[in-house]
Amino acid sequence: MKIRKVFIVGAGFMGSGIAQVCAQSGINVLLNDISQDVIEKGLKNITWSVSKLVEKGKLTENKDTILSRISPALDFSDGSDADLAIEAVFENLELKQEIFRKLDQSCQKDKILATNTSAISISELASITNRPDKVVGLHFFSPVPMMAAVEVIRGMATSDETFAAGEAFVRQVGKEPILVRRDVPAFVINRINFRANLEAMRLVEEGVTTVEDIDKGLRLASGRKMGPFEIGDMVGLDVTYGALMSMYETTKDPYWCPPAILRHKVKAGNLGRKTGKGWYEYHEDGSRKEG
Ligand code: NAD
Repeated sequence: MKIRKVFIVGAGFMGSGIAQVCAQSGINVLLNDISQDVIEKGLKNITWSVSKLVEKGKLTENKDTILSRISPALDFSDGSDADLAIEAVFENLELKQEIFRKLDQSCQKDKILATNTSAISISELASITNRPDKVVGLHFFSPVPMMAAVEVIRGMATSDETFAAGEAFVRQVGKEPILVRRDVPAFVINRINFRANLEAMRLVEEGVTTVEDIDKGLRLASGRKMGPFEIGDMVGLDVTYGALMSMYETTKDPYWCPPAILRHKVKAGNLGRKTGKGWYEYHEDGSRKEG
């Protein structure tokens, strides 16, 4: 089944990116957030990103056609007939459960509900609904318009049809599905990446080396485009913190407990690029120094 209409909850970094790739693939999008202002901010970011891609000749359609497919939706009832709902709110179990409860009430009974969570259990979110067989994880990576892979995660109750529909949707938006056949903490890619991120943070905390040297080392010695702290600032330190906390709470393994250096930065509001300061401090002239 082709997806024609998607209801997206959360117009932040990920929700707006997902809205953009859907619209670029001809899918109509209803974009929800807590206020019109936040949705407008998301739409502004989408307009900027689509314009850049059009300028570079990466899109065949014109900007206005693509943008006309995205409409703000303050009310969940606006998305009642969407073929698919995707949740992309803060990485917090209680908040996501509240959103899934609302989606279950507002979306037609045969429609699929998906989450873009980084590490929260799909099965736990599905259990809040009356349609656990129709709940699936669709884990996009950031920045969504650039990253070619999406994890499709099967919860304990996800049906074969829903899992296959998730995979087909990922292909429909021009991405490659990575199939995660069991709902394990942090799924596959983050389970691998989080270990490297934790080691990097602990090495800085222990005074062994610096943020800059780790990023430089991994760029120059491991052929990565960005180091873990550069990626951390792009992703948002609050997002990393939320994901590690959920790993820690699920496994009760102290290994996953977010290091104090990360916790202090999050509590101080140093969340990365979105606040101008995180692992680095960003200046108006485009320069940066370790934060
Ligand atoms: P973000 O902070 O940029 O956006 C979250 C949005 O959710 C905000 O706009 C906020 O206003 C909105 N929101 C909060 N409560 C809401 C509610 N009750 N109703 C509607 N909207 C509400 O965060 P993000 O980086 O976009 O992350 C969103 C999700 O995607 C998280 O689960 C995160 O773990 C996951 N994720 C993030 C990344 C990344 O690189 N940032 C990558 C993969 C997955």
